Amino acid sequence: MGALEEGHFDAESPAIAFGGGGGAPAAGTIEDAVRVLLKGLGEDSDREGLRKTPMRVAKAFREGTIGYKQKVKDIVQDALFHEAGLDNGVGQAGGSGGLVVVRDIDLFSYCESCLLPFSIQCHVGYVPSGRRVLGLSKLSRVADVYAKRLQEPKRLAHEICAALQNSIAPAGVFVALQCWHIQFPEALKLNLNPGHPSRSIMQGWVRTSASSSTGVFTEKSSSLCEEFRALLKFRGVSLDSNDSGGSSIHSWCPSKSLDLRSDSLASHSILVDAVASILRSLDEDPSRKELVGTPYRYVRWLMNFRRSNFDLMKNGLTNQLENVDRYIRGGNVINSELNLPFCAQCEHHLLPFHGVVHIGFFYGTERKAIDRPGLQSIVHFYSCKLQVQERLTKQIAEAVHFVLGNGVMVVAEANHICMISRGVEKVGSNTATMAVIGQFAMDATAKSSFLEAISKSTATGG
Ligand SMILES: [Zn+2]
Ligand SMILES: [Zn+2]
Repeated sequence: MGALEEGHFDAESPAIAFGGGGGAPAAGTIEDAVRVLLKGLGEDSDREGLRKTPMRVAKAFREGTIGYKQKVKDIVQDALFHEAGLDNGVGQAGGSGGLVVVRDIDLFSYCESCLLPFSIQCHVGYVPSGRRVLGLSKLSRVADVYAKRLQEPKRLAHEICAALQNSIAPAGVFVALQCWHIQFPEALKLNLNPGHPSRSIMQGWVRTSASSSTGVFTEKSSSLCEEFRALLKFRGVSLDSNDSGGSSIHSWCPSKSLDLRSDSLASHSILVDAVASILRSLDEDPSRKELVGTPYRYVRWLMNFRRSNFDLMKNGLTNQLENVDRYIRGGNVINSELNLPFCAQCEHHLLPFHGVVHIGFFYGTERKAIDRPGLQSIVHFYSCKLQVQERLTKQIAEAVHFVLGNGVMVVAEANHICMISRGVEKVGSNTATMAVIGQFAMDATAKSSFLEAISKSTATGG
């Protein structure tokens, strides 16, 4: 693996060259800023896959922050309905009417620390008061107003809670959030779990929960919080008992643990300026305390996917067969390496997709093989750039085939953050792609036994 890894790391070290005096796009559009970023990644923004990327990224940022332009008052004002008999003036919790809970509201926000979207399941409970109830759909509409901003979980929970309390004046509000943030590639690598490879998929996410409450939910004598939790449990949602979020928030965004000072980001000041200009275009203030390091962190994220000038060094990959798992099919030995984790950047949306790659291959007559670190290097090499999943799958298959010269089959499974942030996909849903070359293409038995090996590993790995 040495040669390949070094080849890759070497490729990351040269400073980025900027031609033609680009300059900071302070007065430009988000689209202009994205073009600057693409150039910084060593890409040609006129190539086919990227031509519409600036437009898509700008649209996603605008839609993802539309909440700044929305007013809760407009949503709530025509949706308060008179409901007699809710107030009987007795007691506290049960006295102003019953508990109302809307569960499993799927939302997403852009992380204010790194500008990547994170996924949210939001649960809202409130106790109506003053003989008024709010149309149920408005609870999720109000939550979405605050999700569609640059956020972090704790503040989001507080803002939703306060907005509902202020706009409908109920006896109390409880907001609970479960949030998932993508892991950074650096951390993804550290978290490889060879004992349970498929758990690496789960380790691609940082999870946290946050909650906020007002009124009757904060009264010590009230059992409403427990009842709220109990109603969530019906749906299989189990909130952390101590979800006030204090401890977890610090490490919530993985980019916060990156040391930006020691970074070579000074050479990326044009890119950092471009990201700051995006923030301004979104009516955000880049000097707001929480946003001060954000352009740096976003650029740092992007630089993981810089186009490298080096070709993959395919020599040095072959090893003699050793203790590798393999099985015999029709006289041929098939090797499979499963659950090799990867994180790539979708070139259409400039957002990550991440998951695992499974590789099956026939050994050649010369008994050449690639060991797991070698395959992981191939996966890493092709994923650390602007990509689409179909091409990634094909390129990995071709690279392995190039070395071994026999049949290769590759299955990639991924979560696409761009799909999550467009509401198409939820955390946990998955896109699979497959590439089949050589002997595998003609051998249905080999194909099905490889697929079976994958499903077995998924079933037992957790
Ligand atoms: Zn973040
Ligand atoms: Zn995409």
